[in-house]
Amino acid sequence: MLELDGATVRFGGRAVLDDVGLDVAEHEIVCVLGPSGSGKSTLLRAVAGLQHLDDGRVFLDGRDLDGVPAHKRGVGLMFQDHQLFPQRDVAGNVAFGLRMHGESKGRQAVRVRELLELVGLPGAHGRAVACLSGGEQQRVALARALAPRPRLLMLDEPLGQLDRSLRERLVVELRELFGELGTTVLAVTHDQGEAFALADRVVVMRDGRIAQSGTPLEVWQRPADEFVARFLGFEN
Ligand code: ATP
Ligand code: MG
Repeated sequence: MLELDGATVRFGGRAVLDDVGLDVAEHEIVCVLGPSGSGKSTLLRAVAGLQHLDDGRVFLDGRDLDGVPAHKRGVGLMFQDHQLFPQRDVAGNVAFGLRMHGESKGRQAVRVRELLELVGLPGAHGRAVACLSGGEQQRVALARALAPRPRLLMLDEPLGQLDRSLRERLVVELRELFGELGTTVLAVTHDQGEAFALADRVVVMRDGRIAQSGTPLEVWQRPADEFVARFLGFEN
């Protein structure tokens, strides 16, 4: 359903996304792994329409997204640092994407209640986001990204600021949730345990290129090269 063909982004002459080809199938959960600076966030931003491509194309359901503005792409993006609106309460944050799509006030309220239940925060509507724990904020950001029912949900380090036990629990919950909703997911993480637990397929990036793409088992058992092996923590 998502297809990147030769996607390239250059900053100051350096390609931080370098001729990337990637296919994501409907309902697939793909996790992008890679060191800091390898281009993971740039990849998501390019698909979301927040980053201009210098070369190549992005297709969603066969439609070329060139020139399609971010809010008309039908993709949701949960940012690496949440970017919740501190001046709005929980409901105001979750409803943001619904207002953009012109839903009525009544429908917005119903949907916000559903979403907060979905992410395990029932009754949190009126709470100030600044007073939420990191894990709660992460859940609010997830609810906000899910609100417009994106066909493709992109998550940038969705569990990045959480402790290990909470991450492990949320990974299981997220997998179930995406299965129930039938959401196609492209998620970035630098935590291989998380990627292997969440993903149907793992993509390893290095310097703006895809070093390997395969099922978690394939990547784990047969790293494509020394870089991937080292990244996974194998000592040659
Ligand atoms: P991390 O794991 O640290 O989040 P990442 O893999 O998400 O890293 P990106 O944010 O995609 O990395 O950045 C890839 C490279 O592009 C980095 O070297 C970064 O400094 C550079 N870069 C990103 N955005 C810009 C920009 N707007 N201008 C110049 N360079 C940029
Ligand atoms: Mg990043």
